[in-house]
Amino acid sequence: MIGIFGGTFDPVHYGHLRAVIEVGEIFNLDEVRLIPNKTPPHRLEPSVTSKMRLEMLRLATEKLPNLVIDTRELDREGPSYMVDTLRSLRGDFAEQPLLLFIGVDAFNGLTSWHRWPELFDLAHIVVLTRPGYLIRLENEFFRGRQVLESAELARHQAGKLMFQRITELDISASAIRKIIAERRDPRFLLPDVVIDYIHSHHLYQNV
Ligand code: ATP
Repeated sequence: MIGIFGGTFDPVHYGHLRAVIEVGEIFNLDEVRLIPNKTPPHRLEPSVTSKMRLEMLRLATEKLPNLVIDTRELDREGPSYMVDTLRSLRGDFAEQPLLLFIGVDAFNGLTSWHRWPELFDLAHIVVLTRPGYLIRLENEFFRGRQVLESAELARHQAGKLMFQRITELDISASAIRKIIAERRDPRFLLPDVVIDYIHSHHLYQNV
């Protein structure tokens, strides 16, 4: 099974990194593909360039096995719609179950994603706990797809929804950007190599 973890990574932090390590172990994944997005349809332009976000992601994951940085969204023209990304991944991994991991915050906004029901034709969606966010499962479409066991995901290539508890770290990129802009100390929220990169390139100096 292949894991997919998309994000803006502006910057990458331990909330992302613990999540990808833990899901790799829990679901016994062959690999997890980290996919930085280019023009996030749901948010303002990131405050640093895509190249810099990618560089920080590379630095943070250098020593982690089974993680692949996948630049297909950066290499593609136009906005980064997940449905297009999954279709392209399905071209590379025709037979394997694809597991798209998203935090609860992202799941609660899923029905605003471009052509969102098609996501389930292409992958399973696994929703990860995140402090401060409660799951809203109001939609019948979701209820009918929910499974409780990861073995269920292995039996199908796509189409299921699962909720997975992970170590809850109350870390967000926006809080880190604010800490840096206020000249406070961000250590232990993200890797030192990323902090060094941020300081040497004078990133996030203003909120
Ligand atoms: P920002 O604060 O700028 O919105 P972020 O910290 O939420 O950024 P993103 O790159 O937007 O980071 O998130 C990418 C994915 O990682 C999303 O699915 C999000 O839900 C998940 N995620 C981010 N931080 C955490 C965390 N601390 N715990 C669990 N999931 C997380």
